Amino acid sequence: MTTGVICLLLILPAGSGCRRTEQAVSKPPVVKTKTGIEMVAVPGGWFEMGSEKGGSDERPVHKVWISPFLMDVYEVKQDQFKKYQLPDPSHFKSPNNPLEQINWTDATLYCNERSLAEGLEPCYDEETWDCNFAANGYRLPTEAEWEYSCRAGTGTEYGFGNNKAKLRTFGWCVDNSSGKTHPGGQKQPNPWGLYDMHGNVAEWCNDLYVENYYSQSPEKNPKGPKEGKERVLRGGSWKSSAETCRSAYRSSDPSIDDTCLASDAIGFRCVRNAPDNISSEPKMNSEKQTQSTAKTGLVYDDIYIEHETTPGHPECSERLIRIIKQLKAGGLYSQLLEIKPMPVGRHWIETVHAPEYIDRAKSSSENGAGYLDTGDVPISLKSYEAAVMAAGGVLAAIDAVMEQKVTNAFCAVRPPGHHALGNRAMGFCIFNNVAIGTRYIQARYNLPKILIVDWDVHHGNGTQAAFYDDPNVLYFSVHQYPFYPGTGSQAEQGSGKGLKFNINVPLPAGSGDDCYVKEFEEKLAPAASSFDPDFVLVSAGFDAHEGDLLGGMRVTDRGFAKLTQIVKSIAEKCCAGRLVSVLEGGYGLDGLAASVEAHIRVLMQ
Ligand SMILES: [Zn+2]
Repeated sequence: MTTGVICLLLILPAGSGCRRTEQAVSKPPVVKTKTGIEMVAVPGGWFEMGSEKGGSDERPVHKVWISPFLMDVYEVKQDQFKKYQLPDPSHFKSPNNPLEQINWTDATLYCNERSLAEGLEPCYDEETWDCNFAANGYRLPTEAEWEYSCRAGTGTEYGFGNNKAKLRTFGWCVDNSSGKTHPGGQKQPNPWGLYDMHGNVAEWCNDLYVENYYSQSPEKNPKGPKEGKERVLRGGSWKSSAETCRSAYRSSDPSIDDTCLASDAIGFRCVRNAPDNISSEPKMNSEKQTQSTAKTGLVYDDIYIEHETTPGHPECSERLIRIIKQLKAGGLYSQLLEIKPMPVGRHWIETVHAPEYIDRAKSSSENGAGYLDTGDVPISLKSYEAAVMAAGGVLAAIDAVMEQKVTNAFCAVRPPGHHALGNRAMGFCIFNNVAIGTRYIQARYNLPKILIVDWDVHHGNGTQAAFYDDPNVLYFSVHQYPFYPGTGSQAEQGSGKGLKFNINVPLPAGSGDDCYVKEFEEKLAPAASSFDPDFVLVSAGFDAHEGDLLGGMRVTDRGFAKLTQIVKSIAEKCCAGRLVSVLEGGYGLDGLAASVEAHIRVLMQ
């Protein structure tokens, strides 16, 4: 199926009796990506790069060959960026305004996240920021690709000719912008259908900037010099003069790392290599989106099983393998809406964890340290990546609920989270997935009151600590006591304004379904009702199961179904059923798989 439209613009000389085609500009097709972003399928070709009339860095004018690629029709908008859980740095806030104050590094992070969301291979190494041009994912354009696209077959100063007075028809610059950015697409596009190539926000290119690069650049697909201190910016902005909005005008900025903010006149757009057959690029299909009437979502990704612990360790990959197998065997799997996790933005991890700790988790994992902080958090090379995706999975589930794609969701993630402290790993946990999810709901969706129900057999000391003085988070934990990690007595009720918003229900070893249900009905239900949460999160550990290897309780899978029903009723009563459940512990594989199935069956009802 062809998704693009080829349209021929016939330019006819006015007043001429003789109808003749002076120039036939073929407008390349527009394709829609899997996430609904429009891109122009830019054809390959030769062009003359640079300008004899411009600055010395625009010379010499030289011939360059560009291979076909796709380029965003518009500059990346703020709402596109926020979709990937990245904090919006923009000064002129509005969902349709171009993203700005974006540094080069964060622009590349967006490229990677967008690639992952579409199942493409990310181009950027997030350690070295090297770009893999062979990958099929999104990246920033090379400077040559950018100029080629801006010129769109023209050899004039601007994509519309040489008359700079016409710039106001094609772009936002200092003369007409009223000192701000404007939503993409309000001005005329260039001959290839690209909007705002001149003005609005200056656009990051992938290249490093070197003034005399043109005298040494290769003829085919030049990718910029190997070394340089600044990255190239192109196109000029809302505060630029017409002269600096020219197609060939080169500029640069040092804002390349994630600690410094770029100017509010700097944004970007993405490109990617042209797929072999553009017409096979799937068009975003609105039926596809609405087709998902599934009430319950499932978060899972193979990265979670790449978090390897020590041989024979109870918190093993087999746990998730068995869960997925059971859901498939029970016919549930196909009825659940698959929610693809994305790596959580570091900003969100930092709402719960100290930056030094995040760095330590990353380096310990990637350096093959074997353990993180303590002997009870074994890690492997992929553990950090898995941990980032576990928290990201919870955020993706929250998004799916908030966007009403599902009513509730279960996150089959590893490593678990509820023991993780702000500055330390413990109890098989790296990042506190539920705590990060809590902060995300509050900040991203402006829903202040979160109920966290934690029925893992162990007390969730990390979660308790994260919200101990916070009256907006009601933490309810039922657990075996005394037991690991030692916290969780009834006396721990919160502090300061958070007093009474921390409810611990310690139970003796051997407690079973009846006991748990009673505590839920008599303690959780009334407390939740008076708290009246905006969202319910469940730290769903299944290690209180009678067959568990670590826990000493006697809860059955039917018991977990009853607990699920009670919590689900609370969510239905208080917050339109909004509930995300996140796997914590559970170490007897049969009991774990059966309990998760029972839990999800109730969520689906
Ligand atoms: Zn546990």
